Amino acid sequence: MMLRTSIRRAPGFRACRCPAFALGVLRLSTDAAASAVHGTHPPRVRNLIGGEFVESQSKDWIDVVNPATQEVVSRLPLTTNEEFKAAVGTAKSAFPHWRNTPITTRQRIMFKLQELIRRDMDKLALNITTEQGKTLKDAQGDVFRGLEVVEHACGMATLQMGEYVSNVSNGIDTYSIREPLGVCAGICPFNFPAMIPLWMFPMAVTCGNTFVLKPSEKDPGASMMLAELAMEAGLPHGVLNIVHGTNDIVNNICDDDDIKAISFVGSNTAGMHIYSRAAAKGKRVQSNMGAKNHAIVMPDASPDATLNSLVAAGFGAAGQRCMALSTAVFVGGSKPWEDELIRCAKALKVNAGSEPGTDLGPVISRQAKERICKLIQSGIENGARIILDGRDVVVPGYEDGNFVGPTILADITSDMECYKEEIFGPVLLLMKANNLDDAIHIVNNNRYGNGASIFTTSGVAARKFQTEIEAGQVGINVPIPVPLPFFSFTGSKTSFAGDLNFYGKAGVQFYTQIKTVTQQWKDTSGQGISLAMPTSHKS
Ligand code: NAD
Repeated sequence: MMLRTSIRRAPGFRACRCPAFALGVLRLSTDAAASAVHGTHPPRVRNLIGGEFVESQSKDWIDVVNPATQEVVSRLPLTTNEEFKAAVGTAKSAFPHWRNTPITTRQRIMFKLQELIRRDMDKLALNITTEQGKTLKDAQGDVFRGLEVVEHACGMATLQMGEYVSNVSNGIDTYSIREPLGVCAGICPFNFPAMIPLWMFPMAVTCGNTFVLKPSEKDPGASMMLAELAMEAGLPHGVLNIVHGTNDIVNNICDDDDIKAISFVGSNTAGMHIYSRAAAKGKRVQSNMGAKNHAIVMPDASPDATLNSLVAAGFGAAGQRCMALSTAVFVGGSKPWEDELIRCAKALKVNAGSEPGTDLGPVISRQAKERICKLIQSGIENGARIILDGRDVVVPGYEDGNFVGPTILADITSDMECYKEEIFGPVLLLMKANNLDDAIHIVNNNRYGNGASIFTTSGVAARKFQTEIEAGQVGINVPIPVPLPFFSFTGSKTSFAGDLNFYGKAGVQFYTQIKTVTQQWKDTSGQGISLAMPTSHKS
């Protein structure tokens, strides 16, 4: 039996109820050790409550499945109501001490956390590839983009600064303080198992909040590993808690009066449900949802750079990115581009994400594959021309995997179901526009507004696009960019609900509330009492 023994505990770190579990959980992906520790196979994912990884008493469990093989990697509990209450309770109890912990101490924990994430980058990536399916290199990118947010949180003392105006009136000063909210919660999607939890809890806890995280039920392993690292970095017990499940646990999060704010990333169905249910309870909600990102390709676009971008952003991560470029609108039509697009897409290697040289791994589930294939078929039936069909791809050695090869549909029109719905698979739709105005009109008419790009060598066209396009993230000669954490991850129209985005300045504002203090230090003796409201010229 192989157990990792080199784990370093933060000062004051209490052993979890089953210390071996915390080690085992690091290996949910591949490790026989985890099951040996439990005497169960596959290993069971635990809740994290009050600094302890505790096995759920739930009777209901769901399988976490490797999408390349259908192997059950682990079993995930539907956390019970009592366990959920305990997680929120412990987060609430930890809050008063944590909010009064010096901000420099909170930052130092983030400094340590970023070091530990770097140390365990390969293990995290392996877990992501095993549970989510993306390639190992892409899984490292998943961790890295989250790591950047941890690095950003290391500067929280500056980010969380308030404002001060001296002598707003004689002897009176006013200042504002950004204070934490209390218990915050995060609800995650499957497609970025490390990056999205890292968008959430590092910013929240460094602001002084405590946190309840609900990872995606499809790939919880990275969240568990990150939580383990956060505790190793010195995060006190109760500051970060993890519960598991699907709709019921999410509804509990929305309804619980002790939870003050919810960060959500996922589909529109879930996101709007959470937004309205939690807002009705007076909570703050930031909800990042679905996407249908367009690239406008002008006739003067640089051919090689544009093709590379379309292929990378259309098919990377098997199209399961909210920043995937799923639709290309060619001004003048797609015909001149089609042969080269097919050639580049055909050259991509479809295989298990763990195999060297793989470009596209599997999609997350059999249901996801079925849905993607159905949408492709509906496109064909509605008059689209399929110029590359990846539905029948077979990967030797991984015949059970949920693979879909790169697929390209041309002659797409705005009324087609495959255009209106987010496909979330390796499918690129090609559309035609007569001119730039027409292309912008097509993009703006789509209900989603996550991101849009233009490929052109004309500054005039690029500037017009930037001004008129209705999308949160805009790329000019780059596919949809994920902004670095000193900006915020934006999104508009039905891609976002709420008014404060993830990370950056807005992220700090989301996780804090403003208190305004007015203080007077002057000798007021002999001034008497005035019952009138003060006026500016008399104070
Ligand atoms: P999903 O909505 O199915 O699941 C997200 C979370 O919501 C999960 O934790 C799940 O348990 C929960 N959930 C799902 N349905 C629910 C319901 N009816 N009631 C309550 N909770 C529910 O999303 P997914 O399939 O995991 O992720 C893919 C989606 O996420 C895509 O639409 C993608 O565009 C979107 N996404 C958006 C961004 C962004 O920043 N805009 C980033 C990543 C992913």
